[in-house]
Amino acid sequence: MEILDIITSLSHEFGTGDYVCGGGGNTSCKNETTLWVKPSGTTLIGLTPDTFVAIDRTKLAELYDIEPPEVPAEREQLVKEVMASAILPESPGRASVEAPLHDSLSARYVVHTHPYIVNGMTSAKEGKTVCKKLFPSALWIDYIDPGYTLCMEVRKEIVRYRECNGFEPKLIFLKNHGVFVSADTPEEIRELYALVMNTLRAEYKKAALETVLECSPPVDQASLSADCTAIRQAMKDDSLFIATSGAFEVSCGPISPDHMVYAKAYPYIGAPTVEGLRAFTEEHGYAPQVLVFNQSVFGVADTEKGAYLALLLAKDAAMIEKLAKIFGGIDYMSDGAREFIQNWEVESYRKKQLA
Ligand SMILES: [Zn+2]
Repeated sequence: MEILDIITSLSHEFGTGDYVCGGGGNTSCKNETTLWVKPSGTTLIGLTPDTFVAIDRTKLAELYDIEPPEVPAEREQLVKEVMASAILPESPGRASVEAPLHDSLSARYVVHTHPYIVNGMTSAKEGKTVCKKLFPSALWIDYIDPGYTLCMEVRKEIVRYRECNGFEPKLIFLKNHGVFVSADTPEEIRELYALVMNTLRAEYKKAALETVLECSPPVDQASLSADCTAIRQAMKDDSLFIATSGAFEVSCGPISPDHMVYAKAYPYIGAPTVEGLRAFTEEHGYAPQVLVFNQSVFGVADTEKGAYLALLLAKDAAMIEKLAKIFGGIDYMSDGAREFIQNWEVESYRKKQLA
């Protein structure tokens, strides 16, 4: 089908490192009756026309009328069930949790990504004001827990926007998260992305801010090996995978759900010791996935891919924090928002699929 070929090309185009990290972002296309959306836990770059999950839009719409349970876990469970029942037979995978949000926009194509260029604005203290000035026709959404809650809030905002303007927003910026771009043609998706990226790049340039991460050269191999051994010993796990990089200014707080999922909210800073790691784990409720010491940054996980992604997201977070400086500085997620992600089953499923 032509629209599936088109959304596949768009997914590859906007699935590069400039737009997403790991399994971040999602894309969809639709007709009157069916929504095809990226399966949860896959990457944009790896999509083919037959990997999209086909969803019955009428069945999915039942979500919009249910009285949701108050308890987040029960609410997400119910949403999961409704979404699963809306998936057409023989369709692979589990739909992205953001599928209802894609369905709520009437444009044929939706391309949602998390570019650091954009998140420099969405994660900044003055992000909302800057967004209004640079993208006056865009819809800005303050931070909301992802999943059903986010979808319903955005639906409400889209309706309000349509009432005011007579059309739907083509650009939706989500605080500490990313951007939704929607249009009826692939050309318009490309034009809108070019507008967003070029406008923001021009702002960074005006402020003489380089959009690359300054990273010191890697330390010698012998020191690196010794450091990795020290990490494995302190974490009491000989089989840990470790990805390494020269030093950069790491971010020390939760920037977006994706950063939390892949790299955790806080890094461990200083030479690792058994006691230090125990104290960190007690304080945060998890072992660190990013460690910083001896002029290096380490991504740590029990799989090679997990270690690579932890480091990749740590770099992305550092980049965002750097860019956010020109918009009033970084605005980390609140404690409540952070705790929601830490306890979110859907996200851990996504990570499991990808790692
Ligand atoms: Zn997202």
